[in-house]
Amino acid sequence: MKYDFIIAGAGCSGLSLLYRILQTPCLQNKSILVIDNDQKKNNDRTWCFWEKDPGSFESIVYAKWNTLEFISDTLNKKVNLGPYTYKMIQGIHFYNFVLEYAKKFKNLVFLQDSVTGIDSTINEATVITKKGAYTAKYVFNSTNLFNPKINKKNSLLQHFKGWKIKTVDPSFNSKVGRLMDFSVSQENGTTFMYVLPSSSTEALIEYTLFSKSILKQETYVKELKKYIKDVLKIENYTIEHEEFGVIPMSLAKFEQNPKLNVINIGTSGGYTKASTGYTFQFIQKNVLDIVKNLKTGKSPVQKLSFKNKIYRWYDRTLINVLLAKKMTGKEVFTVMFKKNSVKKILAFLSNETTIYEDILIMKSFPKFPFLIAGIKSLK
Ligand SMILES: Cc1cc2nc3c(=O)[nH]c(=O)nc-3n(C[C@H](O)[C@H](O)[C@H](O)COP(=O)(O)OP(=O)(O)OC[C@H]3O[C@@H](n4cnc5c(N)ncnc54)[C@H](O)[C@@H]3O)c2cc1C
Repeated sequence: MKYDFIIAGAGCSGLSLLYRILQTPCLQNKSILVIDNDQKKNNDRTWCFWEKDPGSFESIVYAKWNTLEFISDTLNKKVNLGPYTYKMIQGIHFYNFVLEYAKKFKNLVFLQDSVTGIDSTINEATVITKKGAYTAKYVFNSTNLFNPKINKKNSLLQHFKGWKIKTVDPSFNSKVGRLMDFSVSQENGTTFMYVLPSSSTEALIEYTLFSKSILKQETYVKELKKYIKDVLKIENYTIEHEEFGVIPMSLAKFEQNPKLNVINIGTSGGYTKASTGYTFQFIQKNVLDIVKNLKTGKSPVQKLSFKNKIYRWYDRTLINVLLAKKMTGKEVFTVMFKKNSVKKILAFLSNETTIYEDILIMKSFPKFPFLIAGIKSLK
């Protein structure tokens, strides 16, 4: 049997695409095979992102904030996000939500299997798994099959351990999310804490670094414990959930269209913003664009717009500044938050500013390191 679509990888991007296809009347009856080696039954990650309006996943938003806090040695800023809301979704709620919705459709097949290869011809693409081979008109891939080589010369890693803790006494202001607290030691590279309270007694606390290598697990644990005790002044708490993640912040090129009729989505398609690691919202925009093309019978292969090429250049420039150690992440983000409104920063980081607004943000940074890195990033 030849499917209309195969979705190889049913994580954030695969399931987001599936959900959008199933919500589209002219696409919802297409034959679809979804392949993943995992059943998506674990709460393996928490997604935070910002958006202006209630989004498609509003019903599963776990917590949200209209005020965020930024802390550094020379800055302590608590700001209203204006039109934006910063939101949190738990991975397991997202997987359950989409998989439950998908149950209504009989034209879907889910296969738990490992993808080992993807081939293509002019009219179709074939996914090879451990158990078989499956053909479709288009394959949407989010496995790392075609990912570029990540190394210490072309990439930083954003690595973090997060604990959702429950405290005995009220300890948080659930209206304020701490986006970045750079007051922690920077000895292992750019390092900050997130504190995202979902109630007065519950918060996700994440020890996050941008550096070339990950740390020993006990270091993350030590730093989380220290921050909770010394900075948050919390003695009595339990850890309700733990997550660990490594996100590439890379100059390497993630192919969007590695083979004919094969479309990479998610991190594999280059939708992780290299300068911040944020991916969730870029995935949502990308799958909407794919569905828009499919609806009108166009190829789902996305061409990067001029503006998006510019944003990727900005991202590469920042990575080059950090890789060359011309400035630290702490310095870059402190300057950015000192000199610009959070509303502008969020618009900029979600690729939603005008060139004029970009120039105003660029003016906040020291010219020399950014000019050199900018030229280097043109390659
Ligand atoms: C712990 C963690 C927290 C994060 N937090 C945020 C956040 O707050 N905000 C944000 O914007 N981004 C965040 N990210 C980054 C990004 O949003 C996620 O990594 C997101 O899940 C990427 O979506 P994806 O579809 O590309 O990959 P995934 O969600 O990882 O999906 C890939 C799927 O492919 C499957 N797969 C892989 N290889 C194979 C194979 N060979 N055969 C079969 N199946 C395979 C996997 O099982 C998985 O289900 C986080 C990442 C992590 C790891």
